[in-house]
Amino acid sequence: MPAVTADTLTLPRVRSVPEQGTRWREATKVITARKSLEGEGFEVRRPFPGMDLSLADPFLLLDHLGAVEYAPGEAKGAPWHPHRGFETVTYILDGAFEHTDSTGGGGLITDGATQWMTAGSGVMHSELPPEHFVATGGLFHGVQLWVNLPRASKWAPPRYQDIGSGDVTLLASDDGGALLRVIAGEVDGHRGPGVTWTPISYSHATVAPGARLALPWPAEFNALVYVLSGRGTVGTHARPLEEGQLVVLGAGEALTLRAADSQPQASRQGWEVLIMGGLPLREPVARYGPFVMNTKSEILEAVDDFNSGRLIRTSPEHVVDDLPHRTDADVGLGLGEQGA
Ligand code: MN
Repeated sequence: MPAVTADTLTLPRVRSVPEQGTRWREATKVITARKSLEGEGFEVRRPFPGMDLSLADPFLLLDHLGAVEYAPGEAKGAPWHPHRGFETVTYILDGAFEHTDSTGGGGLITDGATQWMTAGSGVMHSELPPEHFVATGGLFHGVQLWVNLPRASKWAPPRYQDIGSGDVTLLASDDGGALLRVIAGEVDGHRGPGVTWTPISYSHATVAPGARLALPWPAEFNALVYVLSGRGTVGTHARPLEEGQLVVLGAGEALTLRAADSQPQASRQGWEVLIMGGLPLREPVARYGPFVMNTKSEILEAVDDFNSGRLIRTSPEHVVDDLPHRTDADVGLGLGEQGA
């Protein structure tokens, strides 16, 4: 996969975590992602929501797109639709997505790049494969993570962060057997480029076959590991975890993963995992399609604002007239269960 790669021998290393006397985080729950259709009808694997969402707090949703080999004309995306009250974080490992939004933000996300969109008070956007990619087809692999905003920030002006593949912070594990790409937050004091509203940590790791990755992890954060491809084990009790599975780790101060010696062909460079966690918000969550607020009345307000074209009213700098006015029937407000 062309997500950024590097020679781990040349990179800064995460400090070693002592084997003894460390409170290792162990697997408490393993979830196999459910499959569903999103946008114009592309398949995603979705480990959450579906489980007790407080386990993922401050994250709301994780969609795993691909890896899929599209035939010419087959690639699909999600045309104009609204969001309010949270952030969508799209990380593309293979292939490309073109993003356009009502803040004027946007661009091509491709091969290891991340697009971090804060919907805040309200945004309209489209997420589509570029024309040339639709025409040729090809390998597509990406993930979209939804990060909740605390009550105090739900009405923040929308913001767009374009994080290029060359911007991620690259680290090696203590013995050089794993490569970490820190997209946002920190790992062992090494900060990634993504600017977040509340403390979170989000990384993509490639753990070489047979290698171990141990990381210090803030005790006050939750910790989740999702497998993009390959197989391995988590925790000192070696709980097996394979492609499409998410593990919720329990309390502790460090986490440990080990890649299986033998990996499937598609994951021959190693076990590909997302490692994420954050400080739980512990606030009420009211969700409907593409809106995530604290109360049901705020959701009704968002739907009403969207239907009357006022969704992005709170951001006077936006050129609202340029936007096609769409009704929920046009954009499919109920894009699948949660929206794209
Ligand atoms: Mn969206």
